[in-house]
Amino acid sequence: MTSSSNPGHNPQSRYADFHRRSIGDPEGFWRDEARRIHWETPFDTVLDRSRPPFARWFTGGRTNLCHNAVDRHLAERPQQNALVYVSTETGIERRYTYADLHAEVNRMAAVMRSLGVKRGDRVLIYLPMIPEAVFAVLACARLGAIHSVVFGGFAAPNLAARIDDAKPVLVVTADAGARAGKVIDYTPLVDEALARSKHQPARVLLIDRNLAPERLSAPYLVAYEPLREQFFDAHVPCEWLESNEPSYVLYTSGTTGRPKGVQRDVGGYAVALAASMAYIYEGRAGDTMFTASDIGWVVGHSYIIYAPLIAGLTTVMYEGTPVRPDGGIWWRLVEQHRINLMFTAPTAIRVLKKQDPALMRAADLSSLRTLFLAGEPLDEPTAEWVGSALGKPVVDNYWQTETGWPMLAIQRGIEALPPKLGSPGVPVYGYDLTLRNELTGEPCAPGEKGVITLAYPLPPGCMQTVWGDDERFVKTYWSSVPGVQVYSTFDWGVQDEDGYVTILGRTDDVINVAGHRLGTREIEEALSGHAAVAEVAVVGVTDAIKGQVARAFVVLREADRYADPASRAKLEQELTATVDRQLGAIARPARVHVVSLLPKTRSGKLLRRAIAALAEGRDPGDLPTIEDPSALQQVRAALEE
Ligand code: ATP
Ligand code: MG
Repeated sequence: MTSSSNPGHNPQSRYADFHRRSIGDPEGFWRDEARRIHWETPFDTVLDRSRPPFARWFTGGRTNLCHNAVDRHLAERPQQNALVYVSTETGIERRYTYADLHAEVNRMAAVMRSLGVKRGDRVLIYLPMIPEAVFAVLACARLGAIHSVVFGGFAAPNLAARIDDAKPVLVVTADAGARAGKVIDYTPLVDEALARSKHQPARVLLIDRNLAPERLSAPYLVAYEPLREQFFDAHVPCEWLESNEPSYVLYTSGTTGRPKGVQRDVGGYAVALAASMAYIYEGRAGDTMFTASDIGWVVGHSYIIYAPLIAGLTTVMYEGTPVRPDGGIWWRLVEQHRINLMFTAPTAIRVLKKQDPALMRAADLSSLRTLFLAGEPLDEPTAEWVGSALGKPVVDNYWQTETGWPMLAIQRGIEALPPKLGSPGVPVYGYDLTLRNELTGEPCAPGEKGVITLAYPLPPGCMQTVWGDDERFVKTYWSSVPGVQVYSTFDWGVQDEDGYVTILGRTDDVINVAGHRLGTREIEEALSGHAAVAEVAVVGVTDAIKGQVARAFVVLREADRYADPASRAKLEQELTATVDRQLGAIARPARVHVVSLLPKTRSGKLLRRAIAALAEGRDPGDLPTIEDPSALQQVRAALEE
């Protein structure tokens, strides 16, 4: 391998070669990758481009996600653990070999079938992090039913909206979830959602964890346990689906507005995930992967359930927080289960960073090869801290619910390009990614900021359409950049000479100060470099003179040290000076507000739009996915100070 200062664009780099082929000859490239999965019937066409911007992958091919994730491994690894379940909420730990998983999925599929679930029907899964959630997802895949997992704990109106959009024949739920020692009753939420929704499912299947009294009054309620007994020895064959039949609908996390039902296919998704395990995550059959996310999010769909199982790994499913019983729990899991790959969000690492470092050092982390992080920007101090504390590669990867798997990453399975702090890396094979000026649609020069776009066709595994609304798919995603029909990520970034992209924020978070366009992320990054800052959110607020000004909301590491007004004022000065130094006075926040909590979604994403609304004296609107509504009160109080 030649060394070069220009690895991403170096025509001789193995990565560049690989990426070039995936874009220049997608048919040839993906035909080869399709060998990673089982096809019951081979496909006739790799890519059907007859109706852009819609793309159909592997048309005519028949396969099944459950077969690829479970049945296919029975010959070679029946006694290997497929699923290891750990709950620090209930103290329960369970292990399922591939043979066990096969049996449980068959039982669940037989139960669903007995309740009338057929190919093409929707099943809404509203479950906490319990093994039955994995069985239910895979049972749907087995039957050819379309699952729609709704994050457990969403309020009744949000659940009702999703029921009305997906129109499920069956809802699968549990008596309760548990979080940080608190039991959250699910059945009253489901009851209320069904009272609100126009659509009524034929049945509600209840998994009883014995955590809460069952208050579900629905006459169509059925208990899982007796049915499971009844179908204990059932065998339900896999439905062989055409590659483009839908496998699931998953709603985006709603950071920016009304959630969109992202619809995904079967064959393309299986192939894309299998390839990503080789080229991005370097997970091999027999390895153990711990993805600390939730099955309600896309990371959970792709990297708790489908990808690790398709590739023959052991997947670790965890119910609990990273700090209970103490901040060493995840590291002990790595030691106990000999975890090789770990995947979480930067927000979790920021939480762990505040814990006693001895907790990490006490665990034997020798099995761990790589830590993957995704979901929001990985700030440099956090990246540096975790990289050096672990002494293992940390791989930031950038993607969306819509894409289903990474768009930007260092693809170590192809070539271990050197990471650059603050950047998730270079475009992933299959993605024809270009930064474009949002006003002209022209491609940006290196160093020039623009919106991150993808050219047609999106690679396998990406969203097929918005559920039930092709027009919304075209209008929302393919019509926002002038002059060209490209897919917009609605994220803003900048690409350097070497091809590395840095995410600067969402396009609607871009601030315009006296004609200068700034990403909120740039200012946040500058502020988070200050030792006193634990977390920060920057928003643009209307200003009569400058158009907009930046305002920063910071969470301090040791808030007590800055309690008196004098040291607070001094700190504010230091912080604005930091921004001046790094970005220039134009980016300087008009105010720095101190809060002890920032409003975030349950998936750990900052709700910048809500903060901006409060700062402008507007109503932040409906925030269904907010983690802790008291954070809004904190912002209000800080603004009044
Ligand atoms: P909605 O689309 O409903 O507003 P959402 O965009 O928050 O919700 P997701 O699909 O879960 O829902 O999040 C994807 C977004 O998260 C990306 O578009 C990007 O803004 C951000 N993101 C994901 N990974 C990274 C990363 N590695 N670095 C920076 N930002 C990231
Ligand atoms: Mg989004």
